[in-house]
Amino acid sequence: MRTSKYLLSTLKENPVEAAVDSHRLMLRAGLIRQVASGIYTWLPTGLRVLEKVERIVREEMNKKGAIEISMPVVQPAELWKESGRYVKYGPELCRLKDRKQNEFVLGPTHEEVVTALARREIKSARQLPLNLYQIQTKFRDEIRPRFGVMRGREFIMKDAYSFHIDHESLEQTYADMYDAYSRIFTRLGLDFRPVEADTGAIGGNHSHEFQVLADAGEDTIVFSDKSSYAANIEMAEALPPTEKRPEAKDPYSKAPTPGCHTVDEAAKALGIEANQVLKSLVVHAAYEEGEKPQLVMICLRGNQELNEVKAGKIPGIANPIEFANEEEIKEFTGATPGSLGPVGFKGRILVDRAAAVMGNFACGANETGFHLVSVNWDRDIENYEVFDLRNVEEGDPSPDGQGHLHLRKGIEVGQVFMLGTKYSEAMGATIMDENGKLIPMEMGCYGIGVTRVVAAAIEQHHDDKGIIWPDSMAPFKVAIIGLKLNKSEQVRLTCEKLYQELLERNVEVLFDDRDERPGVMFADMELIGIPHVITVGDRSLSEGMIEYKSRKTGEKEQIKVEKALEDILKKIA
Ligand code: ATP
Ligand code: MG
Repeated sequence: MRTSKYLLSTLKENPVEAAVDSHRLMLRAGLIRQVASGIYTWLPTGLRVLEKVERIVREEMNKKGAIEISMPVVQPAELWKESGRYVKYGPELCRLKDRKQNEFVLGPTHEEVVTALARREIKSARQLPLNLYQIQTKFRDEIRPRFGVMRGREFIMKDAYSFHIDHESLEQTYADMYDAYSRIFTRLGLDFRPVEADTGAIGGNHSHEFQVLADAGEDTIVFSDKSSYAANIEMAEALPPTEKRPEAKDPYSKAPTPGCHTVDEAAKALGIEANQVLKSLVVHAAYEEGEKPQLVMICLRGNQELNEVKAGKIPGIANPIEFANEEEIKEFTGATPGSLGPVGFKGRILVDRAAAVMGNFACGANETGFHLVSVNWDRDIENYEVFDLRNVEEGDPSPDGQGHLHLRKGIEVGQVFMLGTKYSEAMGATIMDENGKLIPMEMGCYGIGVTRVVAAAIEQHHDDKGIIWPDSMAPFKVAIIGLKLNKSEQVRLTCEKLYQELLERNVEVLFDDRDERPGVMFADMELIGIPHVITVGDRSLSEGMIEYKSRKTGEKEQIKVEKALEDILKKIA
């Protein structure tokens, strides 16, 4: 490719809308352009990278015997009603009607369509196991699209769905997919960790996420310093505290805490540490549509954080968690959110294990502008239930009993799920077992965020000059820069010859033949992140040499013109 005939589209300035490095660099290097919030056009350089990722994904999926299909983006609402997700999926599911008023959705994922396919096409247990995949556009009306293609509304996913006669067969394919994912992300040059994960809106009972380690990540992952334990923080159990609850001392009394809205403000006003104050949050109990939800209080140690996934799994609690609004709280307790506590609270009270061993603590008085001090469980609050409700923290003991936990930020690039029979049962995807009985097929599903992978790779591979692609993802392997190309016949001929020779050997090469200042051309090639850069100029040519520079190490090397092709081929091998 010649830059003069290409859509390079690089930007000199940092775009103001980009909050993370990958988004900034994807815009500046001319990989993507926003069309609407969370919706992007992929420019030619971006598309080349995307195709590299897709090829590696395809190769590894095919190696495991998965079979590629292509399912529609627009899906009939009926299928979603059958699975029960038409309502349950919530506002992320984009619903629409055609001219005949038939209801459709834009597919955020494809369990429904693939299960409907399987129930028609799979007629005999001999066809199992079967693993079908596609690389295709998804639409999720994300509440907060951000960071460019990292959290888009329209994005590309590789999604695979496997069908089995029994759980053992599902376990085998799950292990195969786990292995394929490890190979894919390794080939893509990513520093990643598989972690135990929650199953979220997809459902099922067993799952791992593949997390790329990066500070820009929206997920927190935890791992043990002594064992192989690794999990999304959503899943990590905080072990019961070893400390005993202290003896209750003085009876509780009321103290003014005017204008205090947070635990820290209340602690300061009372002259105590935040870990001696109880954090009281109010959420909705589970309720039917149209019903008024009951309120439930959740109590944590003041310096600790609620784990919404754990709380959502407590029976009788609305899942996903819904926080009560100020009005509901006021009506129920008579106080504003900064002054809440369990003493005298009329609803169900859930207490985190670490909060349950607090003694002589402070908490809101359910009277605006007041707290109670020297409060004690049992003595002052009789009815409460204890659960694991908090996020684990740096240094907490590992749930597997070995070592302590460390926290890191991660970008979820893939997830594998054992679905079991959730969809096959709801949608009647059955098969005859050996006793002639119709049973629902066991299912697994396996996703990779293909577009997100590109952003994740840039988060891990860049410097102040631009992107540094791992070779496997680079849009071009080699860049050729000709200095004063239009003035020097010798430079032009040398560049043309090398360019043609590389093309003949199927090397993806970008020949910068613009009539630009050298600085501009170097900066662009570095910004785009082409791994191997060749510069041809009159001065070195007069000594029979051209210059090679590695984008990764920054090292320069003079190579002989007549050996140039051979040397370059060796470097990109
Ligand atoms: P997240 O927790 O990040 O919202 P998810 O768990 O809902 O993602 P899955 O249903 O597991 O996503 O989808 C499979 C993969 O698709 C994810 O691992 C992720 O890489 C990618 N993905 C999901 N949502 C988006 C999005 N809004 N933009 C880009 N990629 C996404
Ligand atoms: Mg996921």
